[in-house]
Amino acid sequence: MIRESGGFYNRDPRNYELRVALLYPAPYLASVNSLGHQMLYFMLNSVDGVMAERFVTDIRGSIESGRSLKDFDLIIATVHFEGQYPILLRMISKLRKPLIVGGPAVSANPIPISGVAKAVGVGDGEVLIPYLIEALLENDLDSLSSRGFFIPSLRNKVSFTRTREINPLRRQILVTKDQIPINKFLLEISRGCGWGCRFCMIGWHWRPRLDPNLSTLEEALDYATHAGFQEIYIVGSDAASSSILKDALQMIIERGLRASLPSLRADQVDSELIKLAVAAGERTLTLAPETGSDKIKHVINKSIDNEEFLRVAQEGKENGMKHVKLYFITGLPWEEDEDLIESVKLANKVRSLIDTKVTVSIFVPKAGTPFENMPLEREHVVKRRISLFRKGFRGRINAMHYGRAYIQTIFSVGGFEIARFLREGYEVPYNKGAYRSFARSLGIDLDRIVYHRRDTPWWDFVDTGIRREYLSKELDRASRYETTPGCDIACTRCMENCWILSKKV
Ligand code: SF4
Repeated sequence: MIRESGGFYNRDPRNYELRVALLYPAPYLASVNSLGHQMLYFMLNSVDGVMAERFVTDIRGSIESGRSLKDFDLIIATVHFEGQYPILLRMISKLRKPLIVGGPAVSANPIPISGVAKAVGVGDGEVLIPYLIEALLENDLDSLSSRGFFIPSLRNKVSFTRTREINPLRRQILVTKDQIPINKFLLEISRGCGWGCRFCMIGWHWRPRLDPNLSTLEEALDYATHAGFQEIYIVGSDAASSSILKDALQMIIERGLRASLPSLRADQVDSELIKLAVAAGERTLTLAPETGSDKIKHVINKSIDNEEFLRVAQEGKENGMKHVKLYFITGLPWEEDEDLIESVKLANKVRSLIDTKVTVSIFVPKAGTPFENMPLEREHVVKRRISLFRKGFRGRINAMHYGRAYIQTIFSVGGFEIARFLREGYEVPYNKGAYRSFARSLGIDLDRIVYHRRDTPWWDFVDTGIRREYLSKELDRASRYETTPGCDIACTRCMENCWILSKKV
């Protein structure tokens, strides 16, 4: 039997001034693996007069009390990727309650959700949530327009909000089955990334990388041990570049806990790191070459030699790792079939060293990146490349479904017509054909958005701090197969006011 502890239960809603339904548009176990969702839950519930209860897709009523959504004053939702938009709207259905949304996808482009949301948080929750609570208690959501929130009715422009320091979340929900923990404690050891991979949304909105202090990690791990967690999931989009990863692993080992690692940049992984990870119980290395082609490595600005992946796989094998997961992307700008063949060759070489599982996803353009204007590759081309991968690779392979990439593109780089589409079409079956025909009935041509250079209306509403000309230059450099160094190597002045730089001066 599954039980959870660590949350807020058995409360009388009449004792609270503000009752918030906190939605996560995914199943329960995914929700407890979302740092943003948990952070929101604990921050809201720490405020006097505020009661927040969680809702997920596979549990009827709130997790805490089984209450219905209509028993709450308003709804706050976190959305991690674009495919969650229609799920979120189905959870709410026709309920008329104010909806406030945050998370990476809406931070990059808040327009598609603007047809249903009262306010959209753009940036880091730690900074935005206190503003939100204040505005809610004063019943003045419009005041958020100057505090990092896009207010659709005002169509205001917001600066992307970033915290200046990250503190790992201490208190977290523990889920047990027959008294054995089945979820992991989430330990954030870095946020953002300064390498500048041209396809990556996190890398351009959360740039440069930010690491927490070691002492805060120690406190979080003490909390995890005390609460009964047995395994720590290290969170960080560029964890391997963080100077504290090894210290974190050491602290995990000293406490008798196990660790799971996220995807690591191969050129930042050495045998000392591998040994520590193995000592902490990790047996799988997750690496994301994205491509095996030197040309495409330059195009995407992730120029890590194939030799690095072979070295890491070999060192992993020698030091006790059992498996490698490799992540590739197809459909990248300027990719041709022969580039894909290079990816297959790399995957086979790694597989000759260690058990290897491959995932192939499809490039989806993201707002606010140098590739924001690039089209989604055509279906027959992507399918041919995935089939080439399947035929050439001598092992297990998971490939993204083309329809998902098509729909994600619409919500990733759509404008106000997509806001209308989402508001009216959230119940349309989640597939490309149904989406296209429903859009046609509204007079919207989805193929025009997906397959062609498009308008970029999010620039009117979100200021990420990155200079727009810089992104254009990055696209030019991509077309010439030229790379640009990451922040840790050399500052290339992507922003006017980089606070990391001002700290260094
Ligand atoms: S201004 Fe320099 S240090 Fe700051 S994010 Fe841009 S490249 Fe990195």
